[in-house]
Amino acid sequence: MRTPPRGANLRSWTRRGLAVTSALVLGTGLAAISSSPVSAAAGCEVDYQVSDWGSGFTASVSITNLGDAVDGWTLGWDFAGNQQVTNAWNGTVSQSGQSVEATDAGHNAAIATNASVTFGFQASYSGSNAAPTEFTLNGTTCTGGIDDPGDPGDPGDPGDPGDPGDPGDPGADGRVDNPYVGADVYVNPIWSANAAAEPGGDAVADEPTGVWLDRISAIEGNDSPTTGSMGLRDHLDQALEQANGEPLVFQVVIYNLPGRDCAALASNGELGPEEIDRYKNDYIDPIADILADYEDTELRIVTTVEIDSLPNLVTNVSPRETATDNCDQMLANGNYVEGVGYALATLGDVANVYNYVDAGHHGWIGWQDNFTASAELFYEAANTAGATPEDVHGFIANTANYSALVEENFAIGETVAGTPVRQSSWVDWNQFTDELSYSQALREELVGLGFEDGLGMLIDTSRNGWGGPDRPDGPGPTTSVDAYVDGGRYDRRIQSGNWCNQAGAGLGERPQAAPEPGIDAYVWMKPPGESDGSSEEIPNDEGKGFDRMCDPTYEGNPRNGNNLSGALPNAPVSGHWFSEQFQELLANAHPPIQ
Ligand code: BGC
Repeated sequence: MRTPPRGANLRSWTRRGLAVTSALVLGTGLAAISSSPVSAAAGCEVDYQVSDWGSGFTASVSITNLGDAVDGWTLGWDFAGNQQVTNAWNGTVSQSGQSVEATDAGHNAAIATNASVTFGFQASYSGSNAAPTEFTLNGTTCTGGIDDPGDPGDPGDPGDPGDPGDPGDPGADGRVDNPYVGADVYVNPIWSANAAAEPGGDAVADEPTGVWLDRISAIEGNDSPTTGSMGLRDHLDQALEQANGEPLVFQVVIYNLPGRDCAALASNGELGPEEIDRYKNDYIDPIADILADYEDTELRIVTTVEIDSLPNLVTNVSPRETATDNCDQMLANGNYVEGVGYALATLGDVANVYNYVDAGHHGWIGWQDNFTASAELFYEAANTAGATPEDVHGFIANTANYSALVEENFAIGETVAGTPVRQSSWVDWNQFTDELSYSQALREELVGLGFEDGLGMLIDTSRNGWGGPDRPDGPGPTTSVDAYVDGGRYDRRIQSGNWCNQAGAGLGERPQAAPEPGIDAYVWMKPPGESDGSSEEIPNDEGKGFDRMCDPTYEGNPRNGNNLSGALPNAPVSGHWFSEQFQELLANAHPPIQ
């Protein structure tokens, strides 16, 4: 049992039985009247998301300021029906008939250029609940572009190349705000061939997945089952072909820290705990040199930096009962922090590289005492070995994990049979129930610590679908809080600390750009069908150990609350193709494979 967290809940909202609709509103009016000084470019974009239960709804409204910085904002809109706001958070809402004005809450008054703030409200209604079609920010209609009153050419039209606020246009450092907007994503031909060779695999074989550089020899290509015949340059050349002159995201996973995977054995690496110099000189530097050769191309190189490293230094160190000797060592010698900082600084020097740091997942870092400490450690690493927070474009949650994207059938704020959901065995005092709420809250925490306002999150949805016949179609019974949560949850793991080849999992949301506020993309960073670890000891020359969390008969350790591992049997070494798992992921996909 983890220590109950101290401190206040972060935001959460009820999703039970709700139809979630989302509308990106770009007003159509071009003749905007601006109340800001005539010399100041004004522009805005509003994302209005509603959770609707038929007679009322909550709305999450995200305002992105595409013009000059503002200090104090009022967002105006008209409801189309009889919607009546009853309360609001992170803003003050006043309503007169159908006309509504929301004003900042003080702490969120300032919105820098290209930054966003989000506020929310609850409202009742009858009849229909159409989303507003137009918003104004401080009097200026939000067109999704810049309205510069002095410019007869109206650069405010969405999509104008060069409008600084348009997603996809270069920012001050030449990088776009969200690399996934307006770009395809590289399909790894090796994974694609493995998927296509499986019965039914054609349906997903053209999905993009990450290219993992899981050891030094993978940079040149080593003909191993994990890496195949292609080195980094081969992939980049192939990516240029796929790009065919248009922007293309190339996803590469940087995964070779000294003393890798200190709390587990299945993905232990080739570098010993003290081999930080080899990491820098023989791994990061050669990768950066190769990437630099592709700097002036249409590629947008997204790096995922070092899975399962920094969070281990928070959760799996002494005096916690979850501590391992290896994690204690990696905390003491500083080589995880040094290595991550060096990777960020060195790769971040390449102009078209977008670094995303691994941020664990909600079932690991979602407890208050882990959440804050991890965010602080991420910030420390981003200021180590020459790195600065500007080297960090964003963070990635749930890489190679199984945590559900959105749990719709229970929420942190609910109480069932006298017990808060948060105290159920499954939630176990966590502040979050799913990856979307975790990622959005972590983003805010990180920006608050000093990371860039435009920070974007990725969520790995490769194996968190949890569909198939066992997927609950509504909340569980209200006889007890455990019956309620366990009956309604999509994530069907025995315990959320289980991570190896989970039985019952399915492919999750297909990769897509900008699916939710603050989320740059859903990605399949872990290539589905590649094992997390062998279910029994298999000798290999990759440095991989045997972790009993991959053995279905294992009864666990403190890191999974001493539960059964939930792993599939007969699994090969991590990274090797695991046909049975791929078949199950296809069968249990959610959304289902058509
Ligand atoms: C393995 C890597 C592999 C990656 C992607 C990791 O668990 O350790 O060797 O490249 O998964 O499948």
